[in-house]
Amino acid sequence: VRATFSPIHRRDHGVSGTVVLLHDVTEQEKLEASRKEFVANVSHELRTPLTTIKSYLEALDEGALEDRALAERFIGVTRNETERMIRLVNDLLHLSRFDSRQKSLSLERVEMYELLEEVTDRFAFQARQRGMALSVDIESGVQPALVDRDAVDQVLDNLVSNAIKYSPDGGLVSLSARRLTGEPGAAARVEVTVRDQGIGIPKKDLGRIFERFYRVDKARSRNMGGTGLGLSIALEIVKAHGGTIRIDSEPGKGTAVVFTLPAAGEEREDG
Ligand code: ADP
Repeated sequence: VRATFSPIHRRDHGVSGTVVLLHDVTEQEKLEASRKEFVANVSHELRTPLTTIKSYLEALDEGALEDRALAERFIGVTRNETERMIRLVNDLLHLSRFDSRQKSLSLERVEMYELLEEVTDRFAFQARQRGMALSVDIESGVQPALVDRDAVDQVLDNLVSNAIKYSPDGGLVSLSARRLTGEPGAAARVEVTVRDQGIGIPKKDLGRIFERFYRVDKARSRNMGGTGLGLSIALEIVKAHGGTIRIDSEPGKGTAVVFTLPAAGEEREDG
């Protein structure tokens, strides 16, 4: 709390009292601190790939270029790091649009099987390379969702990408959708689960996992091309749809991310 004291002056220049203003600065200070932390994080996240790229370019310049095989490897690294930086900057732009409330959702009715089948198509190649299987299970009678399609695609991409990244070769990633029977009279919802049999998340980290740049294992995340922003973006998008998202995990067994979306109301299909 910050206090400001102002004396109350009388006509004869005497003082008749004091006005004390108490400002609650805790919220403001917390915001400022988290803003500073965010900027520090972003700078660090960008400096890491830039430093890597610089050192590999220097090595090429100092002779590695002569060795064709080595040169190809070094160029591969700089390319991966560049791609990760592009992803990072894109992720930051997405988040800042949510932060400044610039992002408006363009809602449409989408069938759940369409959403889930298409995300498995997008990851089929990557999964096959790791000997992994992707499955889709839609409960019968699930309503279509009323969502911003691109935004929800991004949520699913981030979750499936994590499920693959943090699983050993040969694992299964299963996607499922079911109707959520909530309070009578409450808006109908669809619940989506992305489940893997991967490394899981330790209990102590679970509470912070949706924070920007929070990772259980920074090196592993970076090596896998992660930005540390995937789950924060998923959270913002789900919140913007009025839904909730949670994560259940057991180290060594696997992880399930469960989120809800608004269901589209009953609508007659005429024609
Ligand atoms: P990243 O780009 O690092 O994957 P995310 O925000 O998507 O960033 O995830 C944050 C962290 O949460 C990851 O670094 C990882 O430690 C953990 N995590 C996310 N999804 C999973 C999962 N399916 N299995 C195990 N750990 C996960």
